[in-house]
Amino acid sequence: MDHKHCPICQGVMAKEDEFCSEECRKGYDAMAKKRKRSMWIFYIIMGLLFAWLIVQMFLGQKAA
Ligand SMILES: [Zn+2]
Repeated sequence: MDHKHCPICQGVMAKEDEFCSEECRKGYDAMAKKRKRSMWIFYIIMGLLFAWLIVQMFLGQKAA
């Protein structure tokens, strides 16, 4: 029972390995990069939303 499963293809591999093959490592890297990019897009959207709220608050105060 000294084995675990590859996070990419679920194949059996040695306990000390992170991935079963170079191909799976590359697949994981590509996935991580993609996820990182979508995280940045999320942060940018949140930042814009926050900036918009600040502007709205500022305009609201001025009008009142
Ligand atoms: Zn694999």
